[in-house]
Amino acid sequence: MNSSADPFVSFREVQKSYDGEILVVKNLNLDIAKGEFLTMLGPSGSGKSTCLMMLAGFEPATNGEIYLGGRPINKVPPHKRGIGMVFQNYALFPHMSVSENLAYPLQVRKMSGADVKAKVKRALDMVELGDFGDRRPAQLSGGQQQRVAVARALVFEPDLVLMDEPLGALDKQLREQMQYEIKHIHEQLGVTVVYVTHDQTEALTMSDRVAVFNDGVIQQLSTPDDLYERPQNAFVAQFIGENNTLSGTVEHIDGSKCTVKTDGGDTVIAEKVNVDKVGDRTTLSLRPERVELDPSSAMDDVLPGKIEELIYLGDHIRVRVDVAGNDEFIVKVRNRSDMRPLAAGQAVQIGWNSSDCKALDFTG
Ligand code: ADP
Ligand code: MG
Repeated sequence: MNSSADPFVSFREVQKSYDGEILVVKNLNLDIAKGEFLTMLGPSGSGKSTCLMMLAGFEPATNGEIYLGGRPINKVPPHKRGIGMVFQNYALFPHMSVSENLAYPLQVRKMSGADVKAKVKRALDMVELGDFGDRRPAQLSGGQQQRVAVARALVFEPDLVLMDEPLGALDKQLREQMQYEIKHIHEQLGVTVVYVTHDQTEALTMSDRVAVFNDGVIQQLSTPDDLYERPQNAFVAQFIGENNTLSGTVEHIDGSKCTVKTDGGDTVIAEKVNVDKVGDRTTLSLRPERVELDPSSAMDDVLPGKIEELIYLGDHIRVRVDVAGNDEFIVKVRNRSDMRPLAAGQAVQIGWNSSDCKALDFTG
């Protein structure tokens, strides 16, 4: 018997090669809890879809084992895994009505007519398409079709639903609306969702936890706020949110802090995250909203800089400055009525607290 603390889905030392040479998934270990919304996030080609296809059973793992509900499933065919799926090209059956599309997974499971009708109605109501059951997919908008696809994946009440870039074909506004809808359905049903996207905003909006993929390896597995606030390496810092970088060399280490000499010749105190020893090259990471222009109060690091460019965005102003050898450094300045006029060419001070400056692995 499975206790609730045991993972519901577990990848153990999973590897995948399509050509027998290159590993596109390298030694993946990942536990997903029952009821969790877990997102695999990463650039194109990083191995996300491959992981989902292995979990669904459409691609065999080259090495390792995948467990579902505590049982190894490598040898279980896809249709016996009881997993619901939604893809970007939702592939509804065009010759069937919406209701028939939803009834299909139930009829395949030999459910009785009355049960099918009740479950189809419930699934359609859930995605707010109660009145659209008689239409053909071609008579629906893209967003409505995608809702039908979501309903179809959920109609047989699977414990696990996999979604691979399901909103990729929708325009921005509809995509954002659907993100909330899918998130709310997840909350309502308590179903476990494994979601794939390359869109970091989507991942942060929807997920309990996010696994950031690069090159077939999970770079960090964490909650959205932790990924943003405490990136463990330069890839994650760069991929999640907006990020400024400064190159430098570690000069001194003192507990959780380190002193770094930037390539521009300035000395700063940073949080020691992913450097080992004095002499290491490091990439410092700083969020634009954690940096102050002409700081009014005492800050740990204050460096001289020069304004290169101002971009007015209403609620804030993006100020591009040249600081510590980087002329692409962005500071987000809140738009206040009492601020002094800023102009390109001005000399300014740039300040931050050392806890907001992370010393990460060197990326050049
Ligand atoms: P993602 O979903 O993160 O974009 P994929 O898992 O689709 O990444 O792909 C990972 C790598 O595996 C890529 O280099 C891709 O070209 C390769 N790949 C994916 N599917 C196949 C396939 N069916 N045959 C051969 N190579 C594949
Ligand atoms: Mg993919």
